[in-house]
Amino acid sequence: MNRLIGLVDVDGHNFPNLCLMKLSAYHKQSGDTVEWWRDGRDRTYDVVYMSKVFSDAYSPDVPVPSNAGAVVRGGTGYAIKLEGGREVYHPELDPPLPAEVENIYPDYSLYPKYTGFGQPLKKQTAYGFLTRGCPRGCDFCHVGPKEGRRCHKVADLSQFWRGQGSICLNDPNILACPQADALLSSLADTGAIIDFNQGLDARLVTPERGELLARMRLKTPHFAMDSMDVVETVSKGIKNYVNAYKRLHGKWSWRYAKVFCLVNFDTTCEQDMLRIKAIQDCECQPYVMVYNKPSAPAILRRLQRWTNGTIFYAQTKDFYAYQRHNYKTVLYPYDSEERPQTTDKSITKQGG
Ligand code: SF4
Repeated sequence: MNRLIGLVDVDGHNFPNLCLMKLSAYHKQSGDTVEWWRDGRDRTYDVVYMSKVFSDAYSPDVPVPSNAGAVVRGGTGYAIKLEGGREVYHPELDPPLPAEVENIYPDYSLYPKYTGFGQPLKKQTAYGFLTRGCPRGCDFCHVGPKEGRRCHKVADLSQFWRGQGSICLNDPNILACPQADALLSSLADTGAIIDFNQGLDARLVTPERGELLARMRLKTPHFAMDSMDVVETVSKGIKNYVNAYKRLHGKWSWRYAKVFCLVNFDTTCEQDMLRIKAIQDCECQPYVMVYNKPSAPAILRRLQRWTNGTIFYAQTKDFYAYQRHNYKTVLYPYDSEERPQTTDKSITKQGG
């Protein structure tokens, strides 16, 4: 029976929604007609799927369509609730896709802007997961409750890649998978540009893996230094990658890797500055992520603006020089006697 299926990307089409691409492929394969949901009395859908990846804090919900026989809402975004100021993931609100949908080749035609669908294959991008789960269990992260505290292989590349020139992987921690080295080798063999969209766990970058990663065609890799207890191990892993890259390519720039730095969670502002310094010592760009941004002090929002706006960071690697040139007053995380002196006087005022 040919049914009319409507799709709603609640997060707003800013990134291809893998669940919707798989649902679309499944229904098209079953002979149904699939389209983005449209309002209006002239359209009556048999089923409308609403998918939401991000919580309400980042992506507000939208009204449930009235022109549908059935509405199915799903995705991590619907399962995250703010409780006592913290986001809590409720697995009972986020049932997994049936296996026949989960394992299907995605319908990339839904998002031609991101997948390059319709263009020559080398200009297209494939999206998927090779592994799920992560053993780390970071307090602020929903991967453990959602996918389990064990990283395990869930797919072969052929399930979502058919020669596209780029591969975007959503794996939360691919390096923690027991088959990580084989997976990295198979990715390198594709010759495609690889985007580890969720970052790489630097603690698991041995000198050998640093070499393997440096040989791959990586889209700017990113690592994370989210707490004080990992400063040493993360620095070591990043340096394994940076040094291998230098050896293989004879060059390096801070623009070649980003390191995420979570703030406003369980570190003090002084500790945040120490982590920024450690990332700079690794010759990478710090990238500040502010937890619960509305509650963050002004200095952390400035820190984020300086590091994440590459244009500002390129002008000066000194946070106090950045502030002096862009704000009327300079904010310090230290007591006044301890205020660090800037050495960088090279930038010009940018306003703000
Ligand atoms: S290492 Fe990354 S994926 Fe794993 S729990 Fe921590 S934040 Fe989540």
